[in-house]
Amino acid sequence: MRIQSRLFLIGALICLVACESKLTLVDSGKSPYRIYIAEGAPEVVQFSARELRQTILEMTGVALPIKTGVDSVATPAIFIGTAPGLSDKLQAWHPEPFGDEEFLIKTEGKSLYILGGEPRGVLYGVISLLTEEWGCRWYTTDAVKLPDYEKLILPALEKTGQPAFEYREVFFSDVMEPAWCIHNRTNRSLKVIPDSMGGQFGIYPFVHTFYSLVPPDIYFKSNPAYFSLVNGKRQGHEAQLCLTNQDVVAIATRQALKWIDEHPGVNVITIDQNDGGGWCQCEQCRTLDDAQGSQSGSILNFVNQIADTIARYHPEVTIQTLAYYYSEKPPATILPRKNVMIRLCRYAEYCDAHPIEGCKVNKPFIERIEQWHAIAPKLMIWDYYTDFRHYLMPFPNFDGVTHDIRFYKEHGVAGIFAQGSYTKHGGGELAELRGWVLAQMLWNPYQNGQALIEEFVREVYGSAAPYLLDYLTLLHHKVRTDSIHFNMYADPHVGHLTPDIVGKANQLFTLAEKAVENDSVLLARVQLAYMPVLFTKLYFYTAGGKIYLNDAEMPAVLDKFMGIANRLGITQLDESNRGDLHAFSENVRKTKGIFLTKWWVIGPFDNPDGNGLKEVYAPECEFDTLKTYTGCNGADIDWRIYERISTGYMDFTKFFNHSEYGVAYARTALEAAEDGTLQMGVGSNDGVRLWINDQLVLDKAVTRLALPNQEIVTVPIKKGENTVLLKIDQVGGGWGFYFSILDGSAHLKGI
Ligand SMILES: [Zn+2]
Ligand SMILES: [Zn+2]
Repeated sequence: MRIQSRLFLIGALICLVACESKLTLVDSGKSPYRIYIAEGAPEVVQFSARELRQTILEMTGVALPIKTGVDSVATPAIFIGTAPGLSDKLQAWHPEPFGDEEFLIKTEGKSLYILGGEPRGVLYGVISLLTEEWGCRWYTTDAVKLPDYEKLILPALEKTGQPAFEYREVFFSDVMEPAWCIHNRTNRSLKVIPDSMGGQFGIYPFVHTFYSLVPPDIYFKSNPAYFSLVNGKRQGHEAQLCLTNQDVVAIATRQALKWIDEHPGVNVITIDQNDGGGWCQCEQCRTLDDAQGSQSGSILNFVNQIADTIARYHPEVTIQTLAYYYSEKPPATILPRKNVMIRLCRYAEYCDAHPIEGCKVNKPFIERIEQWHAIAPKLMIWDYYTDFRHYLMPFPNFDGVTHDIRFYKEHGVAGIFAQGSYTKHGGGELAELRGWVLAQMLWNPYQNGQALIEEFVREVYGSAAPYLLDYLTLLHHKVRTDSIHFNMYADPHVGHLTPDIVGKANQLFTLAEKAVENDSVLLARVQLAYMPVLFTKLYFYTAGGKIYLNDAEMPAVLDKFMGIANRLGITQLDESNRGDLHAFSENVRKTKGIFLTKWWVIGPFDNPDGNGLKEVYAPECEFDTLKTYTGCNGADIDWRIYERISTGYMDFTKFFNHSEYGVAYARTALEAAEDGTLQMGVGSNDGVRLWINDQLVLDKAVTRLALPNQEIVTVPIKKGENTVLLKIDQVGGGWGFYFSILDGSAHLKGI
């Protein structure tokens, strides 16, 4: 009995303390509070005060007055970026100076203090209060949740905070509005956030700056030696600079100093390689790179010289350079200078389906990040979070999204550029969900990523949420359990989009649409999320995948897909916008041909230096299914039957389980009832040769993705058997072909 009563007493005391110390900011449409900012407070602090007032107004219907100056203060008060006797208070509360984005939220008596560093500390204090204490959310530019409060309460609080990364950029066109960035606490470098709203992480220029430093237009004619020597020729376009040329160093240094003078607020200057390859192979550059075991040798040697000069005049400025594609591997002995920052890119060869840790395809990247972390004074990451060839393809990479940011934090990364779909009107697959979850993880990577996904889906999709969550589970379960790896340039054929999965996904979206059919706002969101499933069905339709979509159903699905796209203004399908949505629609509508999907195949044979297409191997001289031949690495290979049911794409990477260089053959015979002409469509990844009745009728050395009918060939055929022999080479990435009869099938038997 005594114990019980004592417990009761303690409980009552806690309640008393808590009740006394909590702040009631608004109650039943009234508030005794005023917001105070300093006389002459920076614009961003004024903005922060207005932001707080406006959000409280929307949550409670009460507008708190904003007062300037703290000489005569009426309590209770909210002090933003200032306080009476501020330095004494800070001495007690936060003796160390605030970081640029660090804040303190503190209650004392009935007053609330939101203090912080410049430029964004106070602003992030306000946003953190709204987000973490009162549940405000800015999921997308139009899905904002500001809870209604009759009584707005804040418990006694003392909380400091700052972001996990100093640079946080979520680069999806759907989430670039300054207001979204501010509310989700990203400090992007592109698309300017005005200084009056906190400004951004200042980088200039953005990326790929060699030709901005030494423009070919000005220098190439008079000084070709400033530019890359590529295959024995100086090249002033789509290549790089001769980085060991001392004139180039001098010109680039002058330009970098000019950039610094012209952009006083910027303290990161970018000196980095152009996109693509074309590095200099002159003797000096090559010798240096050979000795360093990487092209990053000549790059860092060049950047370091400029960094030395800049350090003398502008010690506050950092030089940023890429470790990207051909320069991803660090040099053997050259170290970046103290004022050089490395921006390491997790480019195309890695796996986006799985987290960095735990997937064998990503293992080499872990090594890279460890190598650069060991030598880089500051390390930034550029990572890719969408499919750049098919913005509308289902891309289940959330296992990585929710895990990798934490991995980066734990490997010493200071900032992240998260690149996603970038289009005029937005609309990449689940871009807003991806963007929001990434922004939260960049602020604090120790959050539960799955909980964030579920929260977004619940709040943004309303009663359709259960179906969307099932859809996400369906796709992620598939790539997890079947160990399907894909990268930022994946093709819908990569493995997770089987007829079964796409069929189930389609059912889920049919139910999702039904669940919100009477709410036009929710329906538009659900339909935007549905587009990738419709896209997949249409994509496979063009690839001979009638199991995904048959001729009878196609027009309705295409109309639905284009109807959503037109309503939402979506026009772009991929990063380079090679084919816009209307071209895709035309392509679907014009799909024709009978795809041949049962072949004898043999391979892989060697493809030395990518010359295997020209090399004559036995299948060009004989067809004997009982014989064994010598293939790549001395392996015994023979003719085998490869039949594809679900699509017209004959996928050699899967059939041969081989993605290294190689060549392979496919052979079939067409039985004609009479002499005639046949029109055939061929698509290949990569180069292709085609023989009909032992006559070479197509010869194309090329590196590309395969699409149906990339080449169209018309040839005579004879009554009886006509042989078809294809040879396809592999120089990395995907490998396979399409073959279809476009016209003349009436001459054929059994087609
Ligand atoms: Zn050179
Ligand atoms: Zn993987």
